[in-house]
Amino acid sequence: MLLTISTDHRPASDLGFLLHKHPDRFQSFDLSFGKAHVYYPEVGADRCTACLMLDVDAVGMVRGKNPDQNFLLAQALQGRCKDRPELVATPLPLEARLDVLCVRGGEAVLRGMFEPLGYAVEAVRHPLDERFPEWGESLYFSVMVRNTVTLSDLLTHLYVLIPVFDTRKHYFVGDDEMEKLLAKGEGWLARHPLKDEIARRFLRFQPSLYRMALSRLVVEEEPVEGEDETPAPERAEETLETPLSLNEQRLMSVVAALRACGAKRVLDLGCGEGKLLRELLKDRQFEQILGMDVSVRTLEVAARRLKLDRLPDHQAGRVKVVHGSLMYRDKRLAGFDAASVVEVVEHLDPPRLTAFERVLFEFAKPRTVVLTTPNSEFNVTWETLPAGQFRHADHRFEWTRQEFQNWATGIAARFGYAVRFLPVGPEHPEYGSPTQMAIFHRDGGEGVTPWKP
Ligand code: SAH
Repeated sequence: MLLTISTDHRPASDLGFLLHKHPDRFQSFDLSFGKAHVYYPEVGADRCTACLMLDVDAVGMVRGKNPDQNFLLAQALQGRCKDRPELVATPLPLEARLDVLCVRGGEAVLRGMFEPLGYAVEAVRHPLDERFPEWGESLYFSVMVRNTVTLSDLLTHLYVLIPVFDTRKHYFVGDDEMEKLLAKGEGWLARHPLKDEIARRFLRFQPSLYRMALSRLVVEEEPVEGEDETPAPERAEETLETPLSLNEQRLMSVVAALRACGAKRVLDLGCGEGKLLRELLKDRQFEQILGMDVSVRTLEVAARRLKLDRLPDHQAGRVKVVHGSLMYRDKRLAGFDAASVVEVVEHLDPPRLTAFERVLFEFAKPRTVVLTTPNSEFNVTWETLPAGQFRHADHRFEWTRQEFQNWATGIAARFGYAVRFLPVGPEHPEYGSPTQMAIFHRDGGEGVTPWKP
């Protein structure tokens, strides 16, 4: 795998000092796993690019015998720089490009992992091999991430996340790897919304290890008033899904899709207790946010959680929650750029779905709709879920991938939208991911960058 790191920081050659290599020379190292080459194809006062050829095993071998001595980036990772010690703590505008990265779970996972750490992510999925269409979508991506961080932070994030994306390899993992994860995760992993999934994947799905790792991560979370009033069925749903941290993955995927379409005014339909609203409020891109739900009690919890009555002035104008039903045409829903409908359709009675479809796609008709629902095929992988049962007592149905896609493509055709589908959560080779997401988009309107499927 080729890792290319660039910076526009001046003088750009500082990057060379941080990597302990003289930027004027080509270097090659003999490492236990083979050779690694570092060279600087672009060295100027304005921009410096370092290319590092890595065997993925070189990253995977963080779990090998003598990892840190061998790991090419170990010194930079530890944040040491003999010649220019002050550089180590300086956040630089850095870009890292990874060619080619195998990503289980696709772009949604990629974004879900990097974006909470402040990275802007660009990902291009490699075309699938036409000779083998039955292999399905390619797992391989060229990925570019950008952030203003210290080089040491960038490398630490990559060190943890590269093996997390690529779950094909099975290494032996033991206590050492757990300690490494905790050490490298210091300062960021405990607060990462996908920490559970990162730990599970990094520790190769060994429950004893990742549970222990997670139990040792201390999160400072502010206590939320009214948490105990969560209606019981919702709590049951959360408990079932907690080991996967699917809730968080879903939220991050939806936020990423809303961000990507350039929406400024967004609706969250069936907003529940306002978890998504809270995420949306954090991003200034979203200038106007309206949550709607049919349950007054749930809306009260949302209002308390979001502290709606105590928001500072500049925030107070941005968010509102209203009581309403998706079964009825509603003027308040018109004129928005995008709408999210997260884990809601499966709560609607099938005969009434057509009403919902018209309310949303014909009358409210935002340019983009991001909709998620469970993938029922995945249920067999949950040992705690008896066969044939739904994930939640109030679910009226749960769709297979095919059923969902049939429904969504039908809607898209009927109301003039294009639709594409993304998996959310770890993908099972046969059953797919636990949550399925559809992103509908229609052209037209003004002021928003069109999102191309
Ligand atoms: N989107 C939230 C909540 C999902 S639970 C989340 O992801 O956390 C489903 C929500 O849909 C519940 O809050 C329920 O009250 C709401 N709901 C069910 N039927 C509805 C309807 N007809 N109109 C609006 N909301 C509805």
